[in-house]
Amino acid sequence: MSNINPTKRPLLASHQTPLQILETLPGAFFLVDDAATIVYANASTQAILGATREDVLGKPLWRGAPQLVSTALYRAVQKTRQTRAPSEVEYVSPVTGTWLHVQLSPTVGGLMVQVHQGRTVAQREAPVPQGERLSIEDLDGLYSRISVLTPEGIVLEINEVPLAEARVRREEVIGKPLAETSWWSDTPAAQEQVHAAIARASRGETVRFEAVIHPREGLDRHLEVAITPHRDADHHIAYLIFAGIDITERKRAEAELHVLIDAIPQQVWIMRPDGSYDSFNQRAHDYTGLSTEESQGEGWMQCLHPEDRSRVRSAWQCAVQTGGVYETEVRLRQNTTGEYRWFLARGMPMRDDTGQIIKWFGTSTDIEEQKRAEQQLKESRESLRVLTETVPQLVWVARSDGLLEYSNQHWQDYTRFTFEHMQNDRWAHFQFIHPADQEGTRACWQHALDMGTMYEHEERLRNGQNGEYRWFLTRGMPMRDDTGQIIKWFGTSTDIEEQKRTEEALRQSQEHASILMNSNIIGINIIEGEQIVEANDTFLRMTGYTREDLRAGNMNWLHMTAPDDLARTLEAHQEHATQLSITPYEKEYVCKDGSRLPVLVGGVLFQHHPHQAIGFVLDNSARKELEQRKDDFINMASHELRNPLTALKMQTQLVRKRLEKQSQHEAATALARMEGPIKQLERLIAELLDVSKIQAGRLEYVRERVDLDELLREVTATIHHLHPSHTILVRGSVHTSLIGDRDRLGQVFTNLLSNAIKYSPDAQTVEMDLSASDEVVTIRVRDHGLGIPRELRDKIFERFYRVTDPKRKAIPGLGMGLYIVAEIIKHHGGTITADSAVGEGSAFMVTLPLMRDA
Ligand code: ADP
Repeated sequence: MSNINPTKRPLLASHQTPLQILETLPGAFFLVDDAATIVYANASTQAILGATREDVLGKPLWRGAPQLVSTALYRAVQKTRQTRAPSEVEYVSPVTGTWLHVQLSPTVGGLMVQVHQGRTVAQREAPVPQGERLSIEDLDGLYSRISVLTPEGIVLEINEVPLAEARVRREEVIGKPLAETSWWSDTPAAQEQVHAAIARASRGETVRFEAVIHPREGLDRHLEVAITPHRDADHHIAYLIFAGIDITERKRAEAELHVLIDAIPQQVWIMRPDGSYDSFNQRAHDYTGLSTEESQGEGWMQCLHPEDRSRVRSAWQCAVQTGGVYETEVRLRQNTTGEYRWFLARGMPMRDDTGQIIKWFGTSTDIEEQKRAEQQLKESRESLRVLTETVPQLVWVARSDGLLEYSNQHWQDYTRFTFEHMQNDRWAHFQFIHPADQEGTRACWQHALDMGTMYEHEERLRNGQNGEYRWFLTRGMPMRDDTGQIIKWFGTSTDIEEQKRTEEALRQSQEHASILMNSNIIGINIIEGEQIVEANDTFLRMTGYTREDLRAGNMNWLHMTAPDDLARTLEAHQEHATQLSITPYEKEYVCKDGSRLPVLVGGVLFQHHPHQAIGFVLDNSARKELEQRKDDFINMASHELRNPLTALKMQTQLVRKRLEKQSQHEAATALARMEGPIKQLERLIAELLDVSKIQAGRLEYVRERVDLDELLREVTATIHHLHPSHTILVRGSVHTSLIGDRDRLGQVFTNLLSNAIKYSPDAQTVEMDLSASDEVVTIRVRDHGLGIPRELRDKIFERFYRVTDPKRKAIPGLGMGLYIVAEIIKHHGGTITADSAVGEGSAFMVTLPLMRDA
């Protein structure tokens, strides 16, 4: 009984005889327990298995007898166990290729397995029961790696491909757990991977996964594996089909593709047919900072701008559903800076031969700069639009052929045309061009169009509202593309009406100025500093200089001024600087030949050239000559009159004295009456003489100490005597004396008091106020008479000037008194001013300096 393993339960211990029978059976005979472990094998088994009984006892049937293992046998074993009924199965051994007939019958706690090997391979054609058709022979033809596994993962059948790969015999694999076969892999991870997949499949799930196997030294294969569970009629999982497809090439191609994809300057993304994440290129990972794990499913959406997410999601879902091209603009967050940049995302589905989508390939291109440029362009277009609407000009844009394309609001407001009106006729805007300007405009525009040069033309445009024409300067610039082709005309029309008017006014004033310049009445010069820089012919003629002298800079107005007039001239120029103009004054020029030319000069400062002034010069020689003649006449007349008058006066006095002696008193009184008018005449002639002496600068003065109080007392007494009608009120005194001409000073006060009385016929009093300081004495003569118009208060000191109004017509005088007075006071270094208004009386104030040490 050595055949029976003593460690195993002696199933048939009491059946010694049958055992011996079994030993003699020609076919192989096994007894297996419920765990399919071989507990008995007869002698014939050695022939089938090629191994001794001892080798197989205690081993699972599948491992101990790989030459027998097949799916068919496996299923038959399962079936017999479950049904507890005998069964049989015929099949070709996947290992030996021989035809096997196996009979199975249940025993207590196990099975009897009887194997007949009687038939040859050629007999395989015999019909086999339905459901047993799957043979490893069939699988050998498949390029895939196919194996039938028990739910525990033990290889029941395997096709040729993996055996060839691993260079092993079938029996070395059959009956082993797949994970442990040398074909699979010796790495624990790969073993665990298939192990876990088998466990899941044995629970009824179809498991797919990719794995890298290592069939033999120097060979690695990338497999795409599916393990599918198969159930029996009772829905128990009967066995597992392992199918592995070699995807090594595909993987390599994919790896190469990834290298390629990584080299693409864009972000590249690959998605699964369901729209979920498959892979990103390195650039995309670098930019988003998302790892492969983080990107899974919809994880990649994290890098989208929150505002863009729902839009992108729906666009993407729509593309995935329809299989159409996906294209959208999206802001993606840059991992390092946290900034969002605009990208154009584009995706295309990749299909297999059947049209099935295998993958989605997409790129995201950075369009931030483009976006910015677009934005800038938009902004600059907008600014241009705003600009064209805000500028005061009429702005228009025309096509290259001249047809109007755009006009701003001003244009439309002014012309009252909308540019739609103008769109079909490029000459349509002629409607509002002045008829007289149309021809010029057309020619100019045609020329610009033909030559591609700038258009510039002045034309009158009609205001659509009031029908008035105004002058405009129209300018059109051609805009060209990169090739130099004109694409548009950009134009403006600027209202130059005011400018035109100003130009016209300027033209007129220039004309006037040139008439004035060329007049032979008035000499005109322009001075700059001391130099005369420009002069008209009249001025040159007057002074005897030539234009060459002028150009050569030989005309210096300071040198041309008579030395006596220099002070006055400089004073006038001083006035010039402060008042911009010179009140005309008289002077004498020294002509080129040294002769003197009396002139009347006035001038104006140029406002825009403060260093330049224009001078107007009138030849004054004729008037001067006349004046001279008048002065000569006065001088001569006063002398001529004085002598006979003196003779007359003496004669009268002599005759009166004789008549008094002869006691002819009546005749003497009559003669005495003549003395008054004679005195008056004498005074007049004396004044005339004084005037002519002043004119000639020959009025003589004596220098003496003058007691002013005494002098004034004397003068008032005399005046009072002569004019008893008025009372002279003297207030104050000066208590001082000064050096001067007593008679001439007396003449001053006599004159002032006489005038005060003469011009206040209705008044009774005249006041004289005296005061003195350390430096000056002040004498103020005040009356309550007619007064003097304010504007004439200075004029009255001029020679022969008299105020003429009806009230004073009857008052005699020649206008010489105040002239002489002013001259005498001036000689004494004093001043005289008049303060008066019509009807309010007058006050004359004289100041005289006290020249103590003289
Ligand atoms: P006349 O001989 O005319 O008085 P004057 O030279 O003395 O000449 O005075 C000039 C002018 O001044 C006079 O014609 C007169 O109109 C005016 N005038 C002078 N003194 C007075 C005064 N006290 N009141 C009003 N007018 C005066």
